[in-house]
Amino acid sequence: MAILFKSAWDDAGEWTRCIQAEEPELEVRVWPEVGEAADIEFALVWEPPPGDLKRYPNLKAIFSLAAGVDHILGDPELPEGVPIVRMVDQSLTAQMSEYAIYHVLRYHRNMHLYESFQRERRWEQLPLHRAQDRRVGMLGIGVLGQDAGRKLQALGFDVLGWRRAARPIDGIETFHGPDGLTPFLNRTDILICLLPLTPATRGILNAGTFAALPEGAFVINMARGGHLVEEDLIGALGSGQPGSGHLAGATLDVFREEPLPPDHPFWRHPKITVTPHIASLTDARSGAQDIIDNIRRLRAGTPVRNLVDPEIGY
Ligand code: NDP
Repeated sequence: MAILFKSAWDDAGEWTRCIQAEEPELEVRVWPEVGEAADIEFALVWEPPPGDLKRYPNLKAIFSLAAGVDHILGDPELPEGVPIVRMVDQSLTAQMSEYAIYHVLRYHRNMHLYESFQRERRWEQLPLHRAQDRRVGMLGIGVLGQDAGRKLQALGFDVLGWRRAARPIDGIETFHGPDGLTPFLNRTDILICLLPLTPATRGILNAGTFAALPEGAFVINMARGGHLVEEDLIGALGSGQPGSGHLAGATLDVFREEPLPPDHPFWRHPKITVTPHIASLTDARSGAQDIIDNIRRLRAGTPVRNLVDPEIGY
């Protein structure tokens, strides 16, 4: 039996060591050295080539190397009926929350402005706001949104969330569905996108969404580049000078095209902060433990954790 590993970004050698430390009997075949296709029982992938996964007649499960599965569900020839499992991992969750907290605090404490003041040798103190007066809206409040939201609450921020289901979340005010979106946006000073990329959420960070945020709001996209209509963000940020435009700033970790092309306007925009998809990186050791645990569950016929519903796309 073998597990196929395919990723252009993750370290195949490290993943092989970590998987075999957990399950020495499981052979790891690193794409494209796949060998006999019938040997492949499991696939662990990031952006598998379209049509590849249907080549393995004995495939029992597809594991995503990331929390999102849009890079798998985009394959129009995905084998039918094979369960898809996403990555839910404590260290990944903690890293995502660190990123969210860092950028919320940066805007909340005007650090983005002091960075430019220093370049101009300008000594100027700006007024401070109380954390409880700053409303942080989690656009998508699942595993990652709830962890970041609770940690931001612990710092005193007024946290709210938007989700698909009409289910309350203990201690966090939530809005749901298309009807809940505008009221949620109207009350959000710092918007953090932590949605999965699905047909329903693609392009959700658009001119209408930005206009529904209060003047001077900030946007942090740490989910997927496909959520953002890039031209609409440029429009909402105005000339790029402080005080111009409806939005005060944006931090982007993910992009329509990655790596972000060198001539892309985001690189030099004074109100945009760019990071190279590093909000979190999957940890091979804990990730491998999680995958092997799920493989054992599959074999034992017990419920698998973190299964994806391909119908809704996450
Ligand atoms: P979850 O599935 O746990 O949470 C997703 C949230 O989005 C849920 O609250 C869900 O609602 C909500 N949602 C989904 N579709 C809709 C919709 N149509 N309308 C309203 N709400 C919706 O995912 P995670 O928190 O684990 O991960 C979120 C995303 O973060 C990933 O899919 C990935 O894209 C991104 N990510 C980015 C990383 C990076 O390095 N930049 C790393 C890891 C993840 P409900 O609660 O009702 O189900």
